[in-house]
Amino acid sequence: KAKSDGRNHFAVYTAELSAEHDEHLAFEADMREAIRTGQFQLAYQPIYNPRSGSVTLVEALLRWEHPTRGHISPATFIPVAERTGLIRVLGAWTIETAARAALTWPRNVGVSVNVSARQFESDHDLVAVVAAILRRTGLQPRRLTLEITESTLIEDAPHIIDSLMRLRTMGVRIALDDFGTGYSSLSYLVKLPIDIIKIDKSFSHEIEVSRKVNALMAAITDLAHQLGLLIIVEGVETEPQLAAMRRFSLHGIQGFIFARPMWDDELLSIIKERVPSDRSKPASVGADP
Ligand code: C2E
Ligand code: MG
Ligand code: MG
Ligand code: MG
Repeated sequence: KAKSDGRNHFAVYTAELSAEHDEHLAFEADMREAIRTGQFQLAYQPIYNPRSGSVTLVEALLRWEHPTRGHISPATFIPVAERTGLIRVLGAWTIETAARAALTWPRNVGVSVNVSARQFESDHDLVAVVAAILRRTGLQPRRLTLEITESTLIEDAPHIIDSLMRLRTMGVRIALDDFGTGYSSLSYLVKLPIDIIKIDKSFSHEIEVSRKVNALMAAITDLAHQLGLLIIVEGVETEPQLAAMRRFSLHGIQGFIFARPMWDDELLSIIKERVPSDRSKPASVGADP
């Protein structure tokens, strides 16, 4: 409205802002309700050992089916959960649910769960939460992997590194997720208490066409091997991408080419056919007994 004076603009602006604010509050209320009424579920995506073809690790991924809004992507609700602090209760539920699911799988298949920076805040004590879950469920700590991102690490490095070391002392493994994005630095790999690096899917999507990505893959895998870290590549979707990635020495490949995230009943039938044999042990990324 060209004729509006400043005051009207302001009125329109605040009305929009408050509508947005209301929408935020409604979304947050919906999330609380969803947690209470069990609308969240976990999907599971198997990670394959590229040599043996067996499944040794499975990533748990949150899914939200809202009764009226329909499917809501983690890319939408995880940031809200983080901002509101709901990620703590949702995150604890996720770890416990994933642990209970893993107990129904063969003993050498582990489960990998994403965790957010806010779950490491000192007044929450993720280490105690995880210890309690392992005690309650009886899951071997070795079968649990927690995935963190580099952005988590720069938030409060000393405190988080201390928590990671305590988790590893318990036997839980730590994976650095989405490696190669954001602030990626090779020095992280040397300094941080991690066991596994998960190379971001953008690498898989460019591996056939980019010499630079090939050079980076060669450097990262070489360094990881020298440091004794396991390497998983994410987001492999096509045969050419798979062929290109197979040239590197990898411990796990995750991507739509093998399997999409699925419900646990379907997963069980897949991994039962693909239980790792003893021969796959040296290259296995799973929870070898
Ligand atoms: P992420 O941890 O990197 O998880 C992998 C994502 O890549 C998943 O998306 C998965 O469905 C997708 N993916 C797997 N294979 C392929 C492929 O071949 N091609 C492509 N294009 N994508 C593939 P999803 O499930 O939508 O999750 C997105 C992100 O949301 C996750 O990325 C993670 O950062 C976050 N997230 C999911 N569940 C949780 C959770 O329980 N806690 C926390 N804190 N974050 C979660
Ligand atoms: Mg992940
Ligand atoms: Mg993640
Ligand atoms: Mg990732």
